[in-house]
Amino acid sequence: MAVDSEARTWKCAKCNVELVPKKAVLEYLGHTVSHEVPACPKCGKTMICQELAEGRMSEVEQQLEDK
Ligand SMILES: [Zn+2]
Repeated sequence: MAVDSEARTWKCAKCNVELVPKKAVLEYLGHTVSHEVPACPKCGKTMICQELAEGRMSEVEQQLEDK
């Protein structure tokens, strides 16, 4: 996994292709929430780094609080 600092695009380190947004289901505190995450169109591997995961989790927390 590598990040192009200029274009801000993610690439799969294995396939060397740009990642595309893909719906993924995350589980958090017993809740399931669907989010778009960067995924490799070739091997299908999703890229969720710790920073992204934490950002998503705070979004989920807000969504849960809104309900
Ligand atoms: Zn790949």
